[in-house]
Amino acid sequence: MKKGYVECEDCNGEGYIECRWCGGTGEIEDGEEMVACDHCDGDGKIECRECRGTGKVECRECGGTGTIEEKCDNCRGTGKITVDCEECNGYGYFICKVCDGDGRVEENGEYVTCERCNGTGKLVCDVCGGRRMMEIEDPECTGRGIVEKDCPVCS
Ligand SMILES: [Zn+2]
Ligand SMILES: [Zn+2]
Ligand SMILES: [Zn+2]
Ligand SMILES: [Zn+2]
Ligand SMILES: [Zn+2]
Ligand SMILES: [Zn+2]
Repeated sequence: MKKGYVECEDCNGEGYIECRWCGGTGEIEDGEEMVACDHCDGDGKIECRECRGTGKVECRECGGTGTIEEKCDNCRGTGKITVDCEECNGYGYFICKVCDGDGRVEENGEYVTCERCNGTGKLVCDVCGGRRMMEIEDPECTGRGIVEKDCPVCS
């Protein structure tokens, strides 16, 4: 079966249905005689209207495309996922290079508070603002929040 199509239920994929007027024989009684059935031109079968004789109909589930769009599980449809901040590797901060994380520096033989980090020894990561996480476009759905899947009905 072609992708996007399902077997026609009306004719079981035959493309034809039995003529109801003649019961599939192709003939009807006309007085004493048997004559060719008008409705089926003597064939005993009629082209299935549902599928126009093709035996298959467009899949309703996917509209004939063979694929359906589903909410992306990975990002729950938001198109974004939260990952460890790439800039700070999920620490949320960097060790202050000025004081090497001590929070103080030596100046003229005395230790004074490091101005760069205000004595904390750490510098908050600009990228995640110290939250340790960052939002990125979900690569699973390339940020669309939906993914295409093979149609479960016709594939
Ligand atoms: Zn049919
Ligand atoms: Zn007939
Ligand atoms: Zn389908
Ligand atoms: Zn996604
Ligand atoms: Zn510092
Ligand atoms: Zn960060």
